[in-house]
Amino acid sequence: MILIVDDSPENIISLQKVLEKNDFEVDTALSGEEALKKILKKSYVLIILDVQMPGMDGFEVAEAISGYSKAKETAIIFLSAATANVKLITRGYSSGGLDYISKPVDMNILLLKVKTFYRIYEQSRALNEMQQSLREEIEFRKEAERKKDEFISIASHELKTPMTSIKGYIQLLERSLDKDDKETIRKRLHKVQNQIEKLNILIADLLDISKIESGKLKFNKKYFSFNNLLEHIIEIMQQSNPHVKILKKGNFEAQIYGDEMRLEQVIINFITNAIKYGPDGEEIHITTEMRGDEIYFSVRDFGIGMSEEHQKKIFEKFYRIEETSERFQGLGIGLYICQEIIERHHGKIGANSVPSEGSEFYFQIPAHPKKEA
Ligand code: ADP
Repeated sequence: MILIVDDSPENIISLQKVLEKNDFEVDTALSGEEALKKILKKSYVLIILDVQMPGMDGFEVAEAISGYSKAKETAIIFLSAATANVKLITRGYSSGGLDYISKPVDMNILLLKVKTFYRIYEQSRALNEMQQSLREEIEFRKEAERKKDEFISIASHELKTPMTSIKGYIQLLERSLDKDDKETIRKRLHKVQNQIEKLNILIADLLDISKIESGKLKFNKKYFSFNNLLEHIIEIMQQSNPHVKILKKGNFEAQIYGDEMRLEQVIINFITNAIKYGPDGEEIHITTEMRGDEIYFSVRDFGIGMSEEHQKKIFEKFYRIEETSERFQGLGIGLYICQEIIERHHGKIGANSVPSEGSEFYFQIPAHPKKEA
């Protein structure tokens, strides 16, 4: 929009007419003071400013607005009576004006200048936008790179921990072998097995992530007994975690359609997290029920819980709650993989949680085949 500032209404009207006829939007002010008020509120591409006005003259207006952030990109064309001398012209430029036209105004010249200013304005706006989007893109790269580095360092640490334990147990095993102490050998072998299982899960998760990225996570769906699967998982997890109490509510015998191994992975992830982020000795409640044609499954713990803000983000790749990430080991990829698995079963996954009171993780999937999208 163009602002015309002139104390003579006739001059304003004639300029306004020509500019509007050429499709420019025009605003007007009859004094320097009125112009300043308008410039404070609105951004103008160009101000056509009469130099000689009673009260504030054109140069004073130009000087005053040179400090306004809203007028940073605004160009000024000064209008002056033909008597204007060179001194006035120089003063015009030094106060930030960009061009000058003498009165009586030659409309063709004015239009030419206005069009040029508009073109420069559009070009510089386009350049600014391009620069901004380039800057954002670079930041986003940088951010992805930072996340990847952080992930590699956490992943290496996570892999190293069980490796170090395995090494330690094997050294101890050698000693027990020398003493032929079968009972201790059995215990230590069991510990080595546990650590190898941890490694196995970590590596499988890492492989899953790269399969998801490349769209190669395959599913083998068929009918199976969800209840049998669940009983089996609970039995094993209860055995290896005697310090918690896993309680199951709900039973149904119907077969459901899905990838048994992948759903097992989700259930184990939910229960492992409930144990990890829940206090020792507490109960973990597991619920399964039919809801219409769908099966609903949830795991409730009474642990650290989390705020609503975190609940929205925990299914994102690599997301771990910063305040607790030091205290608990993890890669922040388990729930991301779970989400992918449940979505590929046309279901939904989510969490309800209250800080310090505990969390409930759930999924709901159709019990029977759905047409693949
Ligand atoms: P990991 O546990 O390996 O970090 P997940 O993807 O399984 O990765 O979980 C992501 C994050 O969600 C965890 O780092 C943790 O901050 C939070 N979280 C997951 N389960 C629970 C839970 N039951 N209680 C509280 N926080 C949880």
